[in-house]
Amino acid sequence: MNCYCGNTTPYSECCEKIHRNIQLAITAEQLMRSRYSAFAKADGDYLMQSHHSSTRPIKEKKSIVAWAKSVQWIKLEVLETSKGKPIDTEGTVTFNAYFYENGNVEVIHEKSAFIKENNAWKYLGLSE
Ligand SMILES: [Zn+2]
Repeated sequence: MNCYCGNTTPYSECCEKIHRNIQLAITAEQLMRSRYSAFAKADGDYLMQSHHSSTRPIKEKKSIVAWAKSVQWIKLEVLETSKGKPIDTEGTVTFNAYFYENGNVEVIHEKSAFIKENNAWKYLGLSE
């Protein structure tokens, strides 16, 4: 089975490794993919851990997990990246995340900003 994030490697060889050790996400795109997989698994702890401390929505963790469980995740499309390479300290990833909610296909289209915190990529929030 391919990883939830759409890579053609199994979850155990892809995002699961990053869920166990966030520093293995060496690009912003890998971190973004690991967050999509965490949504698909409704892994609230990782969603908090991978969120920059300055914007981390700790109070919303329960509702985020409940929502992630309530929808059916379909797929992730990464459309564009800028910076976010191992040598960078910031970057953006533009993506579409598809899911079923109440019988309808919904899509989140977002340009996300990522920055490094303690040598690990973290999700900061919407870019621009
Ligand atoms: Zn993956």
